[in-house]
Amino acid sequence: MNLEDIATVKSILSQPQKIVIIPHKNPDGDAMGSCLGLYGYLKSFDHEVAVIAPNDYPKFLKWMPNNEVVLNFEKENSQAKKCLEEATVVFTLDFNDLSRTGQLHTILEEKEADFIMIDHHQQPKDYARVTYSDVTMSSTCEMVYNFMEYLGGLDKMDKDIATNLYTGIMTDTGSFKYRSTSSRTHKVVADLIDRGANNMEIHQQVFDTNSPSRLHLLGVALSNMVILPEYKTAYITITQDELDAHDFKKGDTEGFVNYGLTLEGIVFAVIFIENKEEGIIKISFRSVGDFSVNEFARTHFNGGGHDNAAGGRSDENMDVTIEKFNTILKTYKLQLNP
Ligand code: 5GP
Ligand code: MN
Repeated sequence: MNLEDIATVKSILSQPQKIVIIPHKNPDGDAMGSCLGLYGYLKSFDHEVAVIAPNDYPKFLKWMPNNEVVLNFEKENSQAKKCLEEATVVFTLDFNDLSRTGQLHTILEEKEADFIMIDHHQQPKDYARVTYSDVTMSSTCEMVYNFMEYLGGLDKMDKDIATNLYTGIMTDTGSFKYRSTSSRTHKVVADLIDRGANNMEIHQQVFDTNSPSRLHLLGVALSNMVILPEYKTAYITITQDELDAHDFKKGDTEGFVNYGLTLEGIVFAVIFIENKEEGIIKISFRSVGDFSVNEFARTHFNGGGHDNAAGGRSDENMDVTIEKFNTILKTYKLQLNP
């Protein structure tokens, strides 16, 4: 954040405001952690603050401090709309384009307020009065920590804020191992622990609350995996029938895509998950090294994200989508075998 942006934010927040904080659709740990961390910080001043999630999110994130304040735009629609109507300031966290907010996006596009974006995704759109975008950051949670520091507010960091920010840094860095994890990330995390984040407990809450049906679904996913050594690629498919047979709950497939990358020699991993209700195949892309899945998702599957983690979608059925993927993959043979 440059000095001018810091001064602008300070001046906006110097008076009591009605603030709404919004994560992207299907929010993950970083989206919820950054929103709830920022919520705790802004609440320590004289502001009215609401967090509005575009839709539901997994149970393994619902233990997070202050989770009870989150309004689900699909379920608590009129209350959420009222907060939005009254808002004087809108923070948008962990996304780069209002189209990432699903049903909320038309309201946000028409909304008159001071928008402040905090985000680490590539190619940020220019819709905010203040855009704090840094694609080198491990997570939006690390940026919220910086944001508090820039505003001179680290003394407001209590155990709840620290816990929320720790959770998002942990989930977005694959427990501190992805390339974007810097020594600064570790310093921030160390400070969050000093300020009350319980690292072991947080890890258990997020990762050790499996249900038997989820592990069985993982078994199905792994046996469906197709490995294409000539493209250094592994992909998984999961159909709606397979989800239904395993009592699928939101978040159950989180992390499945990463198994492909644990294979020696594989640098590109993909998972295709059928969603009959939305009539789409939701796709997650992951890579190690220089192969940009952001470019791949953006160019071919209406998506985007980061160099090594991106998402997208297909409006075709599973068979057509896989055929399309295999055809496109052929054109990337050299890039995948540099
Ligand atoms: P995931 O595969 O876990 O859903 O998402 C991986 C990364 O890509 C996340 O940073 C997420 O925000 C981003 N992402 C996921 N789906 C989409 C999408 O449809 N469009 C864009 N632009 N980014 C996405
Ligand atoms: Mn993130």
